[in-house]
Amino acid sequence: MRVLRFIFWDQLSSSLPSLKDVTPSDIILMCELRQEATLVKHHPKKIALWFSAMRHFAEDLEKQGMTVRYVKLNDSLNTHNITGEVSRALNDLFIKKIIVTEPSEYRLQKIVKSWEEHLGISLEIRTDDRFLCSIKEFKNWTRGRKQLRMEFFYRDMRKKYHILIEPDGEPTGGQWNYDKENRKPPSSSIESIKRISHRKSKILKDVLGLVRDNFNDHFGDLEPFHYAITREQAIIELDHFIEKILPCFGDYQDAMVKEHAYLYHSLLSSYINIGLLLPLEICQKAEAAYRKGKVALNSAEGFIRQILGWREFIRGIYWLKMPDYAELNYLEAKRPLPDFYWGAKTDMTCVAEAVSHTKIHAYSHHIQRLMVTGNFALLAGLDVKEVQEWYLSAYSDAYEWVEMPNTLGMALFGDGGVLASKPYAASGQYINKMSNFCKHCHYDVKKVTTQNACPFNSLYWDFLRRHRDKLENNPRLSFIYKTWDKFDKEKKDAITSRASDILKIMHEGKL
Ligand SMILES: Cc1cc2nc3c(=O)[nH]c(=O)nc-3n(C[C@H](O)[C@H](O)[C@H](O)COP(=O)(O)OP(=O)(O)OC[C@H]3O[C@@H](n4cnc5c(N)ncnc54)[C@H](O)[C@@H]3O)c2cc1C
Ligand code: SF4
Repeated sequence: MRVLRFIFWDQLSSSLPSLKDVTPSDIILMCELRQEATLVKHHPKKIALWFSAMRHFAEDLEKQGMTVRYVKLNDSLNTHNITGEVSRALNDLFIKKIIVTEPSEYRLQKIVKSWEEHLGISLEIRTDDRFLCSIKEFKNWTRGRKQLRMEFFYRDMRKKYHILIEPDGEPTGGQWNYDKENRKPPSSSIESIKRISHRKSKILKDVLGLVRDNFNDHFGDLEPFHYAITREQAIIELDHFIEKILPCFGDYQDAMVKEHAYLYHSLLSSYINIGLLLPLEICQKAEAAYRKGKVALNSAEGFIRQILGWREFIRGIYWLKMPDYAELNYLEAKRPLPDFYWGAKTDMTCVAEAVSHTKIHAYSHHIQRLMVTGNFALLAGLDVKEVQEWYLSAYSDAYEWVEMPNTLGMALFGDGGVLASKPYAASGQYINKMSNFCKHCHYDVKKVTTQNACPFNSLYWDFLRRHRDKLENNPRLSFIYKTWDKFDKEKKDAITSRASDILKIMHEGKL
């Protein structure tokens, strides 16, 4: 029987389960949909990455003899809706069966599951084996556990895939985790390593024009466009990272430096998340580099932990907790997102830098996302939905399954501690220690309550004060509350007053 095989924009892997038994008479359906590109106003670079990588992927499938029905954004009959396009294909081609790999997010799963009934066809949904832990396996792992902690999950994943495990079953080097070695502040001599740039294909040039014409009201710079858009290009970036950059990854994983958006991060998330690279092959290459003596253990382990540990854990939490997870707002954060998240002027250098990296590259690295823009949103009590929408639209690697737990759970503590054992709240002292931003800032990081005091400082204490009922019993915060209790009334009042002034100035657009 002829089958329609629908491929989502983040399923661009030739090993995709729904492509495994494809026959020449089957039709592969791929579509560029306005409804998806504008669901939130995705960064123009991200839309260009999607469409150009999809077009190249479709071309590769055709070269291998497969038949692809590829619907372009400007095709006149394009309904711009997933079900609309599936329905159109079924009618045009007289097909009665669809095979699809499980979509990455809950909303899309609901749509796919509705097809059988709404379109009167037979539907087969295949497990996405590109992830290293299936949804079912993660659920089983959670059974009987009081707390879900990434570290224990990660150890089991290391054992399952024999990554950095010795023949006797012990972790390589004797420890599971070398994170303590991975928190060096930036040195003054720190230098970024030149990144790969790729020649622009005809497909990419066409897509850049298309995106320019159709999405120029979205936040972010379309050009210069530097992303890999084929598997071959993504592998070149991966190999370059492993050889030249991974050796420095560990030490400076948490460092932030003005005008250096990437430092020693891999920039691979956008490619993994659309399927150009597979997580296991990346972990294996990183391990091989360590075994050959090219990379220190703290770097290799720290990097592998992000992919084999954090990425899979985050996805597990998403599917375990959805759909209720999306409605959580534990700290009742409701303040509107200030315009400086969308590029308006702010005198806070750390925030201005993170937003500027985001606007230019559709990227900022983990610590900027967590400890600068995320930390500010947490301390200021910014609306959790608005903050999530910002992260989902602004980053080229953002998809709900990974963005939501990271933003709502990790950065905003909106899930009340499902993901993180305590809020990642920090004053300006942390940013000052881990970056050179404060040296270039209008505000004084050493001050708390004066007119020019760093906003993070008073907001930090005020955050703890405001949420005392929900946080003071957290054992990891008890010593901080003891410090607060030692402040005299005058100091406490001055902090509260400065925090309230900052929030007022923020609303006026003058922070
Ligand atoms: C508020 C917030 C929102 C985030 N939103 C996203 C998102 O939408 N999409 C996304 O892929 N990551 C997200 N992250 C996680 C992380 O910041 C990015 O994966 C990372 O910055 C991507 O850059 P990189 O490829 O250079 O990563 P590297 O620092 O080089 O890390 C290597 C890889 O590990 C994986 N990884 C690392 N940390 C995480 C994590 N916490 N969750 C999932 N994967 C991880 C990524 O695949 C990444 O490519 C978010 C983090 C925070 C704090
Ligand atoms: S002084 Fe405060 S606002 Fe300025 S860069 Fe440092 S942490 Fe950010």
